[in-house]
Amino acid sequence: MKLTDMSYAHEVMARHGIAPKKRYGQNFLTSDSVVSRIADTPSDDRDIGVLEIGPGIGTLTEALADRYKKVVSVEIDETLLPVLEETVGYRDNVTIVNADAMKLDLPQFINEHFKDMKVCVCANLPYYITSPIIIKILECGYLFESVTVMIQKEVAERLTAAPGSADYGAITVFTAYYAKAEKCFNVAPGNFLPQPKVTSAVIRMETYKNPPVDVKNAENMQKIIKAAFEQRRKMLAGALAAATNRVSKAQIAEKITEAGLSADVRGEKLSLEDFARLSDILEI
Ligand code: SAM
Repeated sequence: MKLTDMSYAHEVMARHGIAPKKRYGQNFLTSDSVVSRIADTPSDDRDIGVLEIGPGIGTLTEALADRYKKVVSVEIDETLLPVLEETVGYRDNVTIVNADAMKLDLPQFINEHFKDMKVCVCANLPYYITSPIIIKILECGYLFESVTVMIQKEVAERLTAAPGSADYGAITVFTAYYAKAEKCFNVAPGNFLPQPKVTSAVIRMETYKNPPVDVKNAENMQKIIKAAFEQRRKMLAGALAAATNRVSKAQIAEKITEAGLSADVRGEKLSLEDFARLSDILEI
């Protein structure tokens, strides 16, 4: 019996005395075709390992285990462990780890569970930690071949937005530094138990082994990006001046033109390449 079969999912949860918990962002997938599409997205190579965050009752875990060599799933909610033991515990290519994914030391964890294997991330992420967990994963992006996550559609649009568009923000530029992000497909609320209020989307991020821009001080660039979008309606010189005491607004304006940008440009118009160029001549 498949976990996407609602009567089976209800029966398993009832037998274990559990119900989906809002505080852990538990919206379990109930559509076989959606689960298959997500599980197919990380890689064509079946010889890889997959790190799943939040297996829930094991629905996506099962589909990943059908396709890939090894699956390690990190679940925070210990009340789901007996359920997972029943639904996927019998598979010898699945390991369940009871932990908070936000607290993992990723390089150590990947080395421990996937030594010498190529690894992809695949997850139906809990909404309450979408951005922090994506940031955490991308900062260790070199560990992974790709990162496939289902998230709120609006966040997916922000991660994949073009410079100058309304959705373009600090998180878009941050993502572009670590990966080539692509929105794959939308998933309607009717495909979950319980149904969320919003539409979801699956995105795939192909991580870079080397960043697409060569920047002297990546931390300084991230500071500039953050400051530029904190006051996105302001001209860039003013937005950056508000974030530092190290340089004056006039000096910043000079550096902006030196970087080949217009003096009255707004941060929201800058591409990753523009931020990199500016960061190499302006420390804030
Ligand atoms: N993968 C399942 C599915 O698609 O049906 C469940 C997805 S549900 C949206 C998110 C899962 O992440 C839940 O099982 C929840 O308990 C788990 N979770 C929430 N916060 C977590 C954290 N910090 N670390 C690990 N797992 C977490």
